[in-house]
Amino acid sequence: MTSSSGERMLDVRGLTVRFPTSDGIVQAVSDVSFALSRGETLGIVGESGSGKSVSNLAIMGLLNRARTVISGEVEFKGRDLLTLPPDELRKVRGKEIAMVFQDPFACLHPMYRVGAQIAEAFTAHSDAGKHAAWSRAVELLDHVGIPNAKSRARDYPHQFSGGMRQRAMIAMALVHNPDILICDEPTTALDVTVQAQILELIEDVKREFDIGVILVTHDLGVVAETANSVMVMYAGRVMEYGPAAEIFRHPQHPYAWGLLDSMPTIERRLDALVPIEGSPPSLLAPPSGCPFHPRCPYRFEPCATKLPPLKVPADGAHLDACHLPYDKKVELGAQRAKKVAA
Ligand code: SF4
Repeated sequence: MTSSSGERMLDVRGLTVRFPTSDGIVQAVSDVSFALSRGETLGIVGESGSGKSVSNLAIMGLLNRARTVISGEVEFKGRDLLTLPPDELRKVRGKEIAMVFQDPFACLHPMYRVGAQIAEAFTAHSDAGKHAAWSRAVELLDHVGIPNAKSRARDYPHQFSGGMRQRAMIAMALVHNPDILICDEPTTALDVTVQAQILELIEDVKREFDIGVILVTHDLGVVAETANSVMVMYAGRVMEYGPAAEIFRHPQHPYAWGLLDSMPTIERRLDALVPIEGSPPSLLAPPSGCPFHPRCPYRFEPCATKLPPLKVPADGAHLDACHLPYDKKVELGAQRAKKVAA
């Protein structure tokens, strides 16, 4: 093996996605940049419509090119995925970059045995024969914690619980030892105890397969335990991006404060949760200036007209896109923390 943990694998620069529609242009993703290294879990967090899932579908080449305008660069191991011919991109997708979706039941064919579907994913990108592919399916089902994998591989999806189906989807994603695993809301359809097990499994396979993981979620709590870095998105743009420990300890952006203050924790009573007022904007006509300004309790003079650049503020520790001076952020952040602890 020539790869090693920490090796930079993915560099996304200025990713922009537009969907032209009869009502106008949907500005789904605007100027998004991030990186992923081997052994890293990047949590991408935001409400629905924040552009987190569309960004990953664009990286995977799963958006209809005829109906989408995509620009920027997605450099993966020296190649720009946005300019790869469809045949080469197909080889990358599923083999080198694999994806796990929210609803495993919708992704598994109800009429085929679980093991056969994993075996088929294996033969799609290899010359393996039927027996070798079936053995690989059983081996991976066992690896992701399906008990009696040899016999359960013969089950149909409806014979698996929700958590087992998500384990099977993770097994299928790992079939070619990918470099990157993109998990899009992998625990949203599961109950809380199973959620924790699936997150633990994703962390385990990250270590065992030495891969990078992108964890897409609307729930900051999901990334709090596992992510090494966090990118907070709103209205298709990056609001805050940096090491997870930094962002949870010293969040700098009012939208991140809003997400954190509305997140239930063991210590916080339910009546102490503070929801973010208002709703996310339409991406057909996103607000001028800072996209969060209509909902931001701290907006001031330039916010409605001037887009704040994503940068590390003077004296700040990580990137954010907010006009507030850093010392004001520190002051407001401290007031907020005091209120939450009260
Ligand atoms: Fe709020 Fe202004 Fe910062 Fe936007 S730029 S988050 S409106 S203070």
